[in-house]
Order: sequence, then C-alpha cells, then structure tokens
Amino acid sequence: MSQYQGLSRAYRPQTFSTVLGQEAIVTTLKNALRQKKTAQAYLFCGTRGTGKTTLARVLAKALNCPNLSKDSEPCNQCPSCLEISQGKNLNVLEIDGASNRGIDDIRQLNETVAYAPTSFGCKIFIIDEAHMLTKEAFNALLKTLEEPPSHVKFFLATTEVHKIPATIISRCQRFDLQRISTTTISRKLADILKEQSIPYEEEALHVISCFSDGSMRVAESLLDQILCFSEGSITEKQVSDSLGTLPTDAFFAFDQAFDQDNTLFAFTWASQIFTSGKDLSHFFECLLDHYRNLLSIKLGLLLENFPSALQEKYNKSCSNYTEEQLLYILDYLIEWHDKIHKSPCKRVTLEMALLNILRSKHRISAADLVLRLEGLQETPSIETEKEPIIESPPVNLIPKPVIEIIPEKPAPEPIKEPSSTIPIPPPVSQETKEPLTKNFQAKYDTLSRFAAVELEGALFKD
Ligand SMILES: [Zn+2]
Repeated sequence: MSQYQGLSRAYRPQTFSTVLGQEAIVTTLKNALRQKKTAQAYLFCGTRGTGKTTLARVLAKALNCPNLSKDSEPCNQCPSCLEISQGKNLNVLEIDGASNRGIDDIRQLNETVAYAPTSFGCKIFIIDEAHMLTKEAFNALLKTLEEPPSHVKFFLATTEVHKIPATIISRCQRFDLQRISTTTISRKLADILKEQSIPYEEEALHVISCFSDGSMRVAESLLDQILCFSEGSITEKQVSDSLGTLPTDAFFAFDQAFDQDNTLFAFTWASQIFTSGKDLSHFFECLLDHYRNLLSIKLGLLLENFPSALQEKYNKSCSNYTEEQLLYILDYLIEWHDKIHKSPCKRVTLEMALLNILRSKHRISAADLVLRLEGLQETPSIETEKEPIIESPPVNLIPKPVIEIIPEKPAPEPIKEPSSTIPIPPPVSQETKEPLTKNFQAKYDTLSRFAAVELEGALFKD
C-alpha cells in the first residue's frame, strides 16, 4: 500500500525557480553560485512555512550538483540531487536544532566537520530551528563558524532570529524571508488543484490563503485537510465550514443591514455566530479585516490580491459607508477586540457591538457637530436669553427686565408689553417670555438633539 504524501511534501520546490515569494533572495543566491562566491555560512530567517529549509536544501543541491544549469539550477537527476531530495546524502546533514540543542551535539558536529566530503562538492550542515541551541552549543559552534574548512558550509534556519547570538549572526550571510502573498499562495494552490483535476472556486482559495497567514506550508496542509473534508470540488462554503471561518457573504449582508437600518440583523447574526461556536476573537479579526478592506477601497487603494468577484462585492458594499464612518467603526472594533475576552456575557457583548456598528450610521461626527454649533453661535448667544427666564418669576421686577430685553432682542411684540404689564402682571410675564423662550427653546431643542445623538450614538465614552 503506497503511503499518502502530504501536499506540502509532494509539492516542495526542488529548484530555485519554484521557490515562491522570495525572488530577491533567489537572485542573490543564483548570482553567488554563478560567480562562485558562496559564503561559508548562511542564516535563513522568517516565519514558518516561508521556505527557509527548502531554500537551504536547493542551495545544498546546487553546490553539490555536477550538472548545474547555466541558470544555476540543480539538475535534480544526478545521484547527489536525488539523494539530497530524499535526505540520504552523506554530504548534506540536516540537524534539528530543537532536539540536538546541547553542547555535546555540537561537539559531535565539530568532529565530523574535519572529514572531507565523500565525493564531488562540499559538506553542508543544515541546522533547522537554530534558535533552540543552548548558549554553550552556540559557543561551541562559534569557533567552527569562524574558520570552517573550505569544503564545509553551514546553513542555519530559524523562526526567531532574535534568539540567535549576535556573534553567530555576524558570521553568517543573513536572508530574511518574507511572508508569501495571498495571490502567490492562491496561485500555487490553484496549480496543485489543476494538476489533480479538482474543480475549485477562486474565493475558496482566497479564504485558505488569507487563513494561512503568509505560510505556504500551512496553506498546503489546510488544502490537504479540506480535500479530505470535501468530495468532488472545493467551494467557499466547504472551506469556511472546514476552517470554522464565516462565509464572506455574511459580512456583505451586514453592510446591507447597515445601509437599510436593519438593526434586527445584529441579533440574528450574533445568534448565528454564537450558536455555531465560532471563536469570537477570530470573528472580530475577520470583521476588522472586512472594514479595513472597505476603507482601503474608500481611500482609492486597490485590493490587488482579491478575486474579481470578491472585489466587486467590496466595491458595492463600500458605497454604504462614508470614510468617517469606516474609520469610526475600525476604531471601535480595535477597542472591542480585546474587551470581548474579558466580557462575562459574551453573547450580549457581541450583540451590542454589532448593534452599535449598525447604529453608528446616524452618529454625528465631532467635526460636523462643531460646524453646526458654530452656525448657532452666529445668532445671539443662549446665555443672554437665559436671563429673562430666570428673572421672570419675581412679578415685582417685571418693568425692569422688559425694558432691558427689548433693545437686545428684535422681538416682534415690544410695544404691547409696557401697556399690558401694569394691570395684570402674571399673564404679561408669560407674554414677554413667549417670543424669547420660543426662540431659545428652538435652539435649545436643536442643541439637545445634537447632544442626545452624540451621546446616544456614541459607542463608547471616555
Ligand atoms: Zn544534480
């Protein structure tokens, strides 16, 4: 019975040209090979699954291949290349830094360094997870790294370069591998599926590549997992179900709810998310990502790595928001992303968060509020109008305030008041109040409405 080989192993790059997403490093290494100027020690750093060990192996092959192409590619057919691919070559020793981290392991390594390679080429030590070596082991390695025999080369690979002593780093040529872009990952996954004649949806591959966070190996393992989960074809729904992510359509439906003031949607969606047992903090991250994409479009940036159908959906959703609203929602989500962990009632918190985002549509921005208040200030100030209201209750003082107020305010009934004040005081005071309070009341109402909206609409207060 033949053993199934995982996609990441089956499709591991065997040449420089098939190492994806690290073009600058590949060019440097090829040039070094062509000019026969390869260094004694290389340090490959970068997050998991970006191709550190793969590059080290291809370089090892190229250094030991007698049939190197003009383009500095190993032939992958000679015994040396085949043996290195299978991990059986005696000249290329792969050491796992995590399990051989002690001083004795490095001493043993130092002893073997002295022996010449078995055939053509050089002796290469690939130390994976090099940051796991102990301080003593690094010290033991240092001497060999300083003056290695000419036939010996060291390739160190690490995900945590900050744990490697500076003395080691300074003796290596260092390469920092980049995270692989979602487009590159999607393209590779598409190639694999095409080769295996499996139909797929572009959006499905996009979800996988976003989820794998720049790591080709993670993406390939996820695809492996999804191929077991699904039969026949790869759809976005299957991928979302398998990975426990939310289908992107739900986010666009939320945008529509925002546009249509459908606050009920906050409750139905929260309920769906909650009952499906999705990780809430992951959900917040997805929502943040969604709004980040919308804001990017709003600012005129293109979503380069997106399938065209998805891009179209984003373009459509984008018109439901203003730039101000998107910025506000993003701020809000960043704030709540941490709070959701601590909340004792997660369901209610989720509902409120979604509801507040929907309600933020009617929130008046601070800038807008200032503009409107400035508009109000141009008309007589509120303080001058407040006085008559306070002074009006003491009946004895009626003649005084009336005279004072008339010149200030262009009230419509100034002549009536002096004549009517003497016989029946109370009604007069009401009459004098009316034009002023009306005016004041209107402004007060507007102001309090602003304030109410500002406070009500505010999703959080300091
Ligand atoms: Zn070869």
